[in-house]
Amino acid sequence: MKKNVRQLLMIPGPTNVPVEVLLAGAKPMINHRSKDFKIVFEYIIKSVQKLFQTKNDVFMLTSSGTGAMEACVSNIVQPGDKILVATIGNFGNRFAKIAETFGADVEKLSFEKGKAIDTKVLKDRLAKDTKKEIKAVLFQQNETSTGVLNDVKAVAEVIKAHGALVVVDAISGFLAADLKVDDWGLDMVAAGSQKAFMVPPGLAFVSVSKKAWDVIEKTKATSFYFNLKTAKEFAPDGETPWTPAVSTAFSMQAALKILEEEGMESMFERHLWLRNAVRAGVKALGFKLFVEDDKYASPAVTAIIPAEGIDVEKFRSHVRTNYDVILAAGQSELKGKIFRIGHLGYTDQKDILVTFAAMEMSLKEMGYKVELGKSVAAVQEALMSKVKVPV
Ligand SMILES: *Cc1c(COP(=O)(O)O)cnc(C)c1O
Repeated sequence: MKKNVRQLLMIPGPTNVPVEVLLAGAKPMINHRSKDFKIVFEYIIKSVQKLFQTKNDVFMLTSSGTGAMEACVSNIVQPGDKILVATIGNFGNRFAKIAETFGADVEKLSFEKGKAIDTKVLKDRLAKDTKKEIKAVLFQQNETSTGVLNDVKAVAEVIKAHGALVVVDAISGFLAADLKVDDWGLDMVAAGSQKAFMVPPGLAFVSVSKKAWDVIEKTKATSFYFNLKTAKEFAPDGETPWTPAVSTAFSMQAALKILEEEGMESMFERHLWLRNAVRAGVKALGFKLFVEDDKYASPAVTAIIPAEGIDVEKFRSHVRTNYDVILAAGQSELKGKIFRIGHLGYTDQKDILVTFAAMEMSLKEMGYKVELGKSVAAVQEALMSKVKVPV
């Protein structure tokens, strides 16, 4: 990396972090078992509960997002338990691998990449489970590898009709799209600091419903570090069982204050607005959208198929080297076939404009045919029309 360069992170996490959030993390260390920390901790938990739209318990873990996924699984799964994972991509597959690691009898219900969970298919599968052996259904709010937003409310309804626990990885979708934990009856939900929270990596969150607690109480914990029963014992004192990422907690506190000022409605609108601008720009550039249906197109990240003959990895590298704009690669079998633009968290219109300008210049410099300003104009047009969040 070049020195003193401000990179523009257009990736789906870690995201760009506001200066006041970074500065908050530079505060001198405090005792994590003190009144001072309790104030920070309780503010964070209360704020995150508000954003989760829940009265359920919310726990703060020191880990990346995957730790929160693992906490969900390890607290409800006993070896041999039947777990259904509705997967639409890489992160769904990760959920399945975690459940396998903890000895679950995992069944993957896989859907085509670029598409959302088909609730009809899920319903049919669950209807076959007449003995109600499936203990929980795991899925993503937003599948980051393909840029698909699931209809969490509809998926949860189907699962609840069966009776299994509803376990959602909301890590990349949270705050980019609405998620009503209580209204939609979500039993366990995972979130992480480095996505739309616009905080450095290091903290993760898990919410736990009454119904999930009933299962957890009967389950012998298979993880020591992520044992939520232990976390529950410490929570009333404003503490976590093990040393938390204190600096990241300071940053989280600062970020939550900013998010509170912006308000949830405005956050969702902003993400949709930026997504629409990115989608308009992609089309004008002559590239293809991996997710064609606007209904499921993620407000957090857009997956893009470049025009024929373009070497994706060379293109990403050129944009990075010459313009310090960081685009995300494709994952697994999509590597080299697509790239992704993250537009979540601390992202605004100028970032989208710069990204498309840099992509056009890069294409021209690499010898591809491109009309300078064309995709930028499409982005400008899209940005000049306001969006409303569908309710
Ligand atoms: C980023 C992300 C995660 C967590 O990844 P970590 O690297 O462990 O933070 C989990 N699920 C989804 C959908 C994600 O986008």
